[in-house]
Amino acid sequence: MTRCLNCGADRDSDVCGFCGLDSSAAEFLLRRRLLNRTAFFLLGALAFVVASTRYPALDVDEILIFIGVLFFVTLGVGIWLERRVLQHAEVEALKRVYYGLIPITWLLAALLLGNGALDTSRPHLEETRVVGKFAMRGPVPTRRLVVVSWREGHRVERIAVDSGDFDRFSYGDTIEVKVQDGLVGIPWVAGVSHP
Ligand SMILES: [Zn+2]
Repeated sequence: MTRCLNCGADRDSDVCGFCGLDSSAAEFLLRRRLLNRTAFFLLGALAFVVASTRYPALDVDEILIFIGVLFFVTLGVGIWLERRVLQHAEVEALKRVYYGLIPITWLLAALLLGNGALDTSRPHLEETRVVGKFAMRGPVPTRRLVVVSWREGHRVERIAVDSGDFDRFSYGDTIEVKVQDGLVGIPWVAGVSHP
């Protein structure tokens, strides 16, 4: 007999000796808890996207890809866990993995917000040239100015900008990018302007 789905205690009959629930009541409670945690996780992913727009990191696209992968891995683990709960299979280890993944989006959102909001470093200006731009509509619109990179080992930078800046600059323009180093060392873009 598998452990109690509600409290994780070993049991030798259908009714758990520790929390007093039978296996279907324990399944109901665990699934409700999983649903709540999943909602918390989804809100965290949203908070992360908001944070990444507020203080856009220079490597915002790489960071968003990382978060995207993490997002689908977590949901995958969640779906797998839910299936095992439905089959009343052993879930203790998988449940710990899932619960461990849940707060990560919130932690990363806080990290990105703190990196920008508490950053007291002096901004430095990088003069460069616009070599492309792209925009994507949607609930969270994405606008990027592609500029020649000033960093070693990088060919171009994709600068996240708002709609005003996006329209103001066109291909071939010289542009000044205001970069700050970030509290935890994630460089971010404080703004763009005409030199
Ligand atoms: Zn129990």
